[in-house]
Amino acid sequence: MKKNFLKYAEILKKNGIKKSLSEIQRFVSDYFDIPLPKVIAFDFDFSEKMEKKLQEFCLKRGEGIPFSYLTGFAYFYGRKFFVDESVLVPRPETEHIVEFVLKKLPWDFKGRILDCCTGSGNIAITFAKELKNAEVFASDISKNAVKVAKRNSLYHNADVSFILCDKLDCFKPRSFDLIVANPPYIGFLEKDFLEKEVLNEPHIALFGGEKGYEFLEDFLRQAILCVKEKGLIIFEMGYNQIDDVRFFANNVLENVKIRFLKDLNGYFRVGVIENA
Ligand code: GLN
Repeated sequence: MKKNFLKYAEILKKNGIKKSLSEIQRFVSDYFDIPLPKVIAFDFDFSEKMEKKLQEFCLKRGEGIPFSYLTGFAYFYGRKFFVDESVLVPRPETEHIVEFVLKKLPWDFKGRILDCCTGSGNIAITFAKELKNAEVFASDISKNAVKVAKRNSLYHNADVSFILCDKLDCFKPRSFDLIVANPPYIGFLEKDFLEKEVLNEPHIALFGGEKGYEFLEDFLRQAILCVKEKGLIIFEMGYNQIDDVRFFANNVLENVKIRFLKDLNGYFRVGVIENA
């Protein structure tokens, strides 16, 4: 039986998947809900049904379907989020935004928060769970994404109001104390350098224009109107966009203070704008 795992790991490896054995083990653990140590020790009954599912998994992974689409969920800030091909798989680097906000705001923060481009709802739901007194809103242009996000909010019993709209089109001026977004920020020009796997995620959630930061600029133009005085806008961006974003903020947006936060690799990946 163990040999079967190795056989499938070999297939995955041939398809360019590096940690192939551990992926197989994680898949079996996640999909069939068996604790990972038991899977690793091969302490479970490997049924025919499981083997069939594993074959299908290898096939789809070989085609570059993201791991989390095949198990149906991903973890973000310690919580489980259902995902499918209509939303981006939450990334650990996006937790940086959450950590920053939770450090900055008091635990009993009562203000209004908007997560724009919510996708699976990961950021909004995390805020709703961690900041119990805040009023949390989340928007997305995709109907299917909002469906997934609503499913996640029900699963977590999180109090989030979801709104189907493009960027901040449906919000009134000065509506929020805090606006966060992990907007699409990859450039079409970078498309050829992306992994097959990433390209299987919704392009609307990935690409922000030819250079990538065009969407971000439109978002910031709107966000600065929708945020209250002294309010904050916090957003993820590409590792090479700091100069363009800084130039835009200082020359196009009025009365703002901007700073950037580094990720663990030393790249500036988060922008923080204060409506001064
Ligand atoms: N908010 C989601 C995330 O951070 C989706 C972002 C998006 O669709 N661009 O993963």
